[in-house]
Amino acid sequence: MNEPTRFGTVTPEVVERLSAILGAGGVSVDGEKIAVYSRDEVAERFWDRPYRAEVLVFPESTRHVSEILRMANERRIPVTPRGAGTGLSGGAVPAFGGILVSFERMNRILELDTENLCMTVEPGVITAEITRAARKAGLLYAGDPCSGDASFIGGNVAENAGGNKVIKYGPTGSSVLALEVVLADGSVTWFGGKRRKDVTGYDFVHLMVGSEGTLGIITKIVLKLLPLPAFGVDLLIPFPTVEAAIRFVPRIALEGRVTPASIELVDHHSLSQAEKFLNTRLPFDQAAAHLIVQLEGNDREVVADETERVGKLALEKGALEVFVADNRSSRDKLWKARKSVAEAIMAYYQNYAKEDLVVPTDRVPDLLFAVDALCRKWRMEAANYGHVGDGNIHVNLLMADDRPHWHEDMEQARQELYETVRQLGGTLSGEHGIGLKRKAYLPQFLDAPQLELMRRVKLAFDPNGILNPGKLVFWDKKTGEAGA
Ligand SMILES: Cc1cc2nc3c(=O)[nH]c(=O)nc-3n(C[C@H](O)[C@H](O)[C@H](O)COP(=O)(O)OP(=O)(O)OC[C@H]3O[C@@H](n4cnc5c(N)ncnc54)[C@H](O)[C@@H]3O)c2cc1C
Repeated sequence: MNEPTRFGTVTPEVVERLSAILGAGGVSVDGEKIAVYSRDEVAERFWDRPYRAEVLVFPESTRHVSEILRMANERRIPVTPRGAGTGLSGGAVPAFGGILVSFERMNRILELDTENLCMTVEPGVITAEITRAARKAGLLYAGDPCSGDASFIGGNVAENAGGNKVIKYGPTGSSVLALEVVLADGSVTWFGGKRRKDVTGYDFVHLMVGSEGTLGIITKIVLKLLPLPAFGVDLLIPFPTVEAAIRFVPRIALEGRVTPASIELVDHHSLSQAEKFLNTRLPFDQAAAHLIVQLEGNDREVVADETERVGKLALEKGALEVFVADNRSSRDKLWKARKSVAEAIMAYYQNYAKEDLVVPTDRVPDLLFAVDALCRKWRMEAANYGHVGDGNIHVNLLMADDRPHWHEDMEQARQELYETVRQLGGTLSGEHGIGLKRKAYLPQFLDAPQLELMRRVKLAFDPNGILNPGKLVFWDKKTGEAGA
């Protein structure tokens, strides 16, 4: 990455200004604390060097954020927004130092509007709290990333987080009706409203969604809610081969005439890591792959009928068994295992590439054949799992801990994998985002006119390039990342 040429730095006078805006308790220059907040879930050893903010701030209101940005913009100081730091792309890593803005104190649910079926929240609310608050009112918030017990809703919106219910409800962006945003110069605006339809101007709401903090800072979010389905079951379906599991997925809709809320894949290697991590066992854990299929509805008999149909069909298509989890504890056990796979792999392996690939759903088997071939060629293992119903597979390439030059080998293997993904009509990231981690690979997936458009959009929103620089956008071809 090019070094910045023209960013301002955080001087004692800047810290004083920040303290005047936020109060002394809202500003930290403690090196150890800054180090903790300057990272996400991408291990620091994967970066070329540690990245550190110069100052860490904790705003409590939109006015605070606005004043921080106005001051930073005047001095061209980089500003990196940070949610809970559960990101898997280095999105919240302050690549050019500057001010790191934590949203942990903007954590209020402001309104639950049961007439308009929506909830207004601050960006620092933990995702699972939103789910719980909606459920208490008999409503569903459909966003369901596996990290939901820790991630903040602001981070979910900025990454357009996916998760387990995308097949039925779409990613986070599908639940976003409106956003209050502080723009780079400190001005505050609302995109969207408590409206289910809106073609009055460009769709800035969904431009902000997934923009990774590079276009503006989100300070309030209006989320769409739905009636909470009264009944739900999860089917755990082991298959003798990964291919059989994947081939079964489209049959659920085509032959079973059922739209599940989730269809998740966990291959044997992934499941065994999760079992070790949680010290637990799931049935048929020697099977090559398991599907988790979640069905839900308001009529118990309809759900029971669908369960039977999907179960029967699975057995016809080669499933080894069908386990039905229909009570809270068995369902929780299943999902705990599914949700811990990512953490388990990160805990047990040093040398891995954690991918977030998406291909058209009918090409998932081709993707996984290609991964097998790569493993043989590069003498490595893979653990594959993820949101198979969306064609979004978390391929994890794993190399031995003591392998010399593993980084170079992994890089080449990854390049070959990306080329395959591209040829399959796929893309680089389905939900984890580009951040610092994937930016170098963007030109393999987006053509020059698109990259140029992104640069111009960035320029329109953030002329000095202070918002989360180093992420997503190739800002200035000549001078690197700093402002023009
Ligand atoms: C175990 C595990 C499981 C995961 N499972 C999933 C999954 O199923 N689906 C999925 O999509 N992701 C998943 N993730 C990735 C991660 O949890 C998501 O990307 C999540 O949305 C990040 O939220 P966060 O609050 O931690 O954001 P952070 O990591 O802190 O930040 C993410 C990005 O959002 C920006 N940002 C944060 N707040 C704001 C704001 N207020 N305004 C503007 N920009 C902002 C940051 O600058 C950064 O670019 C998983 C991660 C882990 C560790």
